[in-house]
Amino acid sequence: MSERRIRGIAASPGIAIGPVYRYEPLLITVEVEAGQDVATELARLEAALAAARQEIRLLAEEAGRAVGPKEAAIFSAHELFLQDPELLQQVQGRIRQQQSAASAWQAGFQHYIHQLQAVQNEYLQARVLDLEDVAQRVLRHLTGQAEESWQLSEPAVIVAHELTPSAIVRCPREQVLAFCTAQGGPTSHVAILARALGVPAVVGLGEELAGVRSGQAVIVDGERGLVIAEPEAEALARYRRQAQRLQRRARQAEEDRQQPACTRDGRCYPVRANVQTPEEVAAVRTCGAEGIGLLRTEFLFLERRQAPSEEEQREIYRALIEAVQPAPVVFRTFDIGGDKPVPYLSLPRESNPFLGLRGVRLGLQRPPLLRTQLRALLRAGAGRELRILFPMVSSYEEVEALRRLVQEVEQELRQQGQELAERVELGIMIEVPAAALLVDVLAEVVDFFSLGTNDLTQYVLAADRTNESTASLADPFHPAVLRLLQLTVEAAHRCQRRVEICGELASEPLALPLLLGLGIDELSMVPRAVPRCKEAIRRWTLQEAQQVTREALHLRTAAEVRSYLHTCSPDEAAS
Ligand code: PEP
Ligand code: MG
Repeated sequence: MSERRIRGIAASPGIAIGPVYRYEPLLITVEVEAGQDVATELARLEAALAAARQEIRLLAEEAGRAVGPKEAAIFSAHELFLQDPELLQQVQGRIRQQQSAASAWQAGFQHYIHQLQAVQNEYLQARVLDLEDVAQRVLRHLTGQAEESWQLSEPAVIVAHELTPSAIVRCPREQVLAFCTAQGGPTSHVAILARALGVPAVVGLGEELAGVRSGQAVIVDGERGLVIAEPEAEALARYRRQAQRLQRRARQAEEDRQQPACTRDGRCYPVRANVQTPEEVAAVRTCGAEGIGLLRTEFLFLERRQAPSEEEQREIYRALIEAVQPAPVVFRTFDIGGDKPVPYLSLPRESNPFLGLRGVRLGLQRPPLLRTQLRALLRAGAGRELRILFPMVSSYEEVEALRRLVQEVEQELRQQGQELAERVELGIMIEVPAAALLVDVLAEVVDFFSLGTNDLTQYVLAADRTNESTASLADPFHPAVLRLLQLTVEAAHRCQRRVEICGELASEPLALPLLLGLGIDELSMVPRAVPRCKEAIRRWTLQEAQQVTREALHLRTAAEVRSYLHTCSPDEAAS
């Protein structure tokens, strides 16, 4: 056999070399069985649902321990599927027509999945795999089959058509070198879980992956999104060197994570953490971050029956300020809408939620909600400096209205004799191209800008960030995105305004020279990426980074930019 290269999507960084273990779970299907006793079958359904619920709770606990609370929430969604009244009614209806519980469940679930597939919402469609996972779990209990176990006798690269979250959580992690799947995009659960576990992963490898067999040797390049099956000696030697280098670097990065992040020629950068659940706050200090560069406050508004009160919010915000002081917290006002629905707000159904009532658009249409949050923030910042960041801004009028609202709230609190923040800095996210193009105008009314490259990329490239079929198009290394970043930073600096970055691009060491070269002033990212980013900053001089950026901005495609950056990192040059 000769070496074969299969290209996919880089979903979790790192290099792995090892034998393949093909994961092919058995799919349970049952025949339609009629003439069953209704009461017995209803009781069997109840028992199977209860057993599945219990298993899912254990899996959620396991996921919480292994990867963190945000990822464990995947399983809360699984539990919700089991309680869906429409689904249960369907299944019970079939049982009352004397079908067996197993065949009624199978038919009911299939109907549910077909309905989901028909909804023109890519995010929901991507969740079909989760539904199948749950459906199989209940079917297993109804048919009395044992849960499949992993049969890994040695460390291996897991190759599968697709992987359910529960398969990943149950896998023997110490034996798993990497994950490779034919399906999936960068937002799929396999990508999210692999990143959280620190395991390299390449997804979206397509049908070619079917030709890779158990026991074959493979190289998984999670940096470039490449799988090499049956590699030749030259590729093996090169990748072994690279893997060793990455390991050395990761060790060094961990050791130095509390040190400042300064380039070789002495320019130092604040590197902060993005936080989206209170549980993550503990990681801010331990990962070496200087405070919180993006607090996604919407976590307070999701998965509950009513909006949090002013006092509840104030207490949480104050605790966060105190937890990381004297370093700052950048509080982003709630970014509800888009892929983050909030049922109790009864928002109108939208056919394009990402282009709809999202972020400050919602806040300005429902002033009481935003007013309450601003009151809570200003009071939480009592006696200190406070940074507030507004998401999804697309016009000057919006920022003017937001400023007015903040001033009104300040005045109101003063009149009520409340203690409030001493100095308030107002910033906006640059996520909509219109805001990027208007930076010089917006600089009149804001103190700082923060680049939200996740949304900016989807809006510049017209590629939905949650849609797995356009995942490879939504690439922040696309030259059009980079040119817009350049324009933003230059305009902001001409107006003496600071530019931060809090999109995922900040956590990619490959992008680091570009971010330095473009002139970004502060970086913020998921806590686990902080040590690696600080280490990457230390490898460059500002001048080298500027040179690389000049070259990159003239390239034609995202692929050209990525491959250019791979070749010019000081580390690659040394190999
Ligand atoms: C972004 O859009 O880059 C961002 C940081 O915000 P979020 O991912 O929460 O939309
Ligand atoms: Mg955003």
